[in-house]
Amino acid sequence: MIDIKNIRKDFPVLNTAVYGNPLIYLDNAATAQKPECVIQTVDELYRTCNANIHRGVHFMSEQCTEKYEQAREKIRQFINAEKKAEIIFTSGTTGAINTVATSFGERFVSSEDEIIISEMEHHSNIVPWQLLCERKGAKIKIIPFDDKGILRTDLLDELINERTKIIAVTHASNVLGTINPIKQIIAKAHKYNIPVLVDGAQAVPHENVDVRDLDCDFYVFSGHKLYAPTGTGVLYGKEKLLEQMPPYQGGGDMIATVTFEKTTYAPLPLKFEAGTLNFTDVIALGAAIDYINKTGLQNIAEYEHQLLDYATRKLLAIEGLKIYGEAAEKVALVSFLLNNIHHLDTGMILDKKGIAVRTGALCAEPLLAHFGKTGMVRASFAFYNTFDEIDALCENLEKISLMFK
Ligand code: PLP
Repeated sequence: MIDIKNIRKDFPVLNTAVYGNPLIYLDNAATAQKPECVIQTVDELYRTCNANIHRGVHFMSEQCTEKYEQAREKIRQFINAEKKAEIIFTSGTTGAINTVATSFGERFVSSEDEIIISEMEHHSNIVPWQLLCERKGAKIKIIPFDDKGILRTDLLDELINERTKIIAVTHASNVLGTINPIKQIIAKAHKYNIPVLVDGAQAVPHENVDVRDLDCDFYVFSGHKLYAPTGTGVLYGKEKLLEQMPPYQGGGDMIATVTFEKTTYAPLPLKFEAGTLNFTDVIALGAAIDYINKTGLQNIAEYEHQLLDYATRKLLAIEGLKIYGEAAEKVALVSFLLNNIHHLDTGMILDKKGIAVRTGALCAEPLLAHFGKTGMVRASFAFYNTFDEIDALCENLEKISLMFK
């Protein structure tokens, strides 16, 4: 059970006033707010324990290294990876996908090869593959979705062929909310010996993820959407694949030995962690995981589903409001348009009431093009949101609708 009163006390920013109104923060899919324990972790580290990791023999360096490696272990347990070596810290989902597209691409993709992605990808899971294809002369194929926002996985057999080198697909859409049947997609891909990268940016904050049960080859997500500081992210990769891939970047910490003639690389995961990483915030990511575990991902998921059902029902009751994304299995977000009112007008008027929603192309232009749109409004929920906040959103949308009549 979510004890909403106490939960809200854990997130100091929720007390902020916006233009004299209490903040109603419904932009959690873009970035989530941070609990006190995460803020305190960062604050305390800079006050009491700040030294570069994996380098010094001095006390503070060893303390920071230990905390950083503890965070890696927390992530390993959180997604049930087999080994710590398979958990690589990155700057975010984007950093992780670029790492795989570049490094896996360098090793395994050649001219005329094919990469399959879906029509509902965030730009982060499109552009890195396009860059790879431009470098290698490879091409991208697309799994389409239907008008309800459900992926046409029935077409996978037609899309896959002997030139398919990887399938990269989102676990949950940041626009439609659709939770894709990735276990099924992975099983199919593996029949053809094709590895699968799963973009978990929108799934990890809401659903229990077990990378061994999914049997995915890569799973990526961002810390900042998971109540942790910005500039943190995770790349999970199967050890066997990561071992075969060249380093993404060169620099300190990723080497075993360096001479001007030849460099050898550090073992996993450090081979993929060149330079000074954002170690303070990674340690705070560990604190965010502790907080989620304490709250219970199952409790979070149940409460957010109630919020989603309530919001969907109330929004659909508003005349002229259309929701994009009608899959039965969704994460807690709703993208919509209200009559012919421009998404920016809706967003700006809501903002004046203290209600923060996302507007625009939502970093998914091809997805929006499916519906012939260039922008939408998105309300995305976290477990600190309330039913009253959804009421306030809907009341204000009713008013906006009247204003433009
Ligand atoms: N993938 C999905 C599905 C997302 O929703 C986002 C961010 O909104 C990203 C990737 C990119 O995440 P980041 O900007 O944290 O790297």
